[in-house]
Amino acid sequence: MPASSSRSPSAAPLAPNAVIGIVGGGQLGRMSAVAAAKLGFRAHILTQDPHGPAAQVAHQVTLGAYDDHKALDAFARAVDVITFEFENISADALDCLAQHCPVRPSGAILRTSQDRLAEKTFLSDADIPLAPWMAVTDHASLHAAAETLGFPFILKTTRNGYDGKGQARVYEASQLEEAFASLAPHPLVAEGMVDFACEISVMVVRGTDGTTRCFAPGLNYHRDGILDLTLAPAPVQEETAQQAQALATAIAEKLDLIGILGVEMFIDRTGNLLVNEIAPRPHNSGHWTMDACPADQFDMHIRAVAGLPLPPALRHSDAAMKNLVGPDDMALWPDILATPGHIPHLYGKAEARAGRKMGHVNILFPYGSLPGALGVQDALGPLADKPEAEDNDH
Ligand code: AMP
Repeated sequence: MPASSSRSPSAAPLAPNAVIGIVGGGQLGRMSAVAAAKLGFRAHILTQDPHGPAAQVAHQVTLGAYDDHKALDAFARAVDVITFEFENISADALDCLAQHCPVRPSGAILRTSQDRLAEKTFLSDADIPLAPWMAVTDHASLHAAAETLGFPFILKTTRNGYDGKGQARVYEASQLEEAFASLAPHPLVAEGMVDFACEISVMVVRGTDGTTRCFAPGLNYHRDGILDLTLAPAPVQEETAQQAQALATAIAEKLDLIGILGVEMFIDRTGNLLVNEIAPRPHNSGHWTMDACPADQFDMHIRAVAGLPLPPALRHSDAAMKNLVGPDDMALWPDILATPGHIPHLYGKAEARAGRKMGHVNILFPYGSLPGALGVQDALGPLADKPEAEDNDH
């Protein structure tokens, strides 16, 4: 149980030694728990995995499923504030948690972000630019979407889509029914295919006093649907970077966010920004901040959740963040450790399965001197793209 002296009225800052409850036991929970410890807080994790990444570094763990009301109740009673490392928790569970202490970001925000239809509706209503989209509930709306959006377009599930899962590209009418049947549950969202020049993301954080802070946009490259590399700051026009930050800030304010939010965007061929997705939690594409900023995304998130002041989202260096995915990247671990300038972060996962994020490496460059693609590959050393796997989009 938290010391009663550390329990504060919800708007007051948490005192040192207060307990921050984190729902979820993965790497984002692990890095949030470490950030909490740096600020003198104790992290209490709700997870089913007693040996997972977050449990390994936590002050306390409640073992239980996210729909186990007994576990949720015990967890919520033992903490001063609750936050999340992932969004897919039921409305019921959220209500159960909120009975006992503040939930930051709020359950309402999670409900919006965990359902792609609710998210698109919210963003459209807030005048945030999006790719054209339509709800697909049945065969009639499927054909109507094809008619309106034209081919090719993308069908996406509304829930549990991550790392490119839960979506199908539809290139011609003959693929419509199969794509519709292959995705579940329905309804689905149909989205016009964006011929994007690049993908960027912005991490925005908002405190209990309404202060917002935005990190510089990062430029993201994916491999097999999984984030591979982030370059920060994204080498885009200053005006575009500012617009991206303004969009992220507008979303945070409209949501009445407390905590951090990742906003993924496309830049189309004419330089327009289109928001793809929002995630009200620390984000893989913000990991570069861990070594390039005095206060990183996890520090900022914990500060916001705890009601502490937010320092400016400054960066002292430019950075490249490379994910370590599966056994192939882990085979390079000894080389990474032996490479000067590589700053490794491992998540403590027992088994390096294919497609599993095991850790990441940050590489710093002096402020304002992020190199171009060739220079980045050079700095990546053992982690550079192999010629046979070269992706021309990089
Ligand atoms: P998502 O699950 O929405 O994050 O999508 C995963 C990836 O699919 C994105 O990072 C893009 O590379 C690609 N993608 C998603 N939506 C679109 C779209 N409307 N047009 C083109 N590519 C997309």
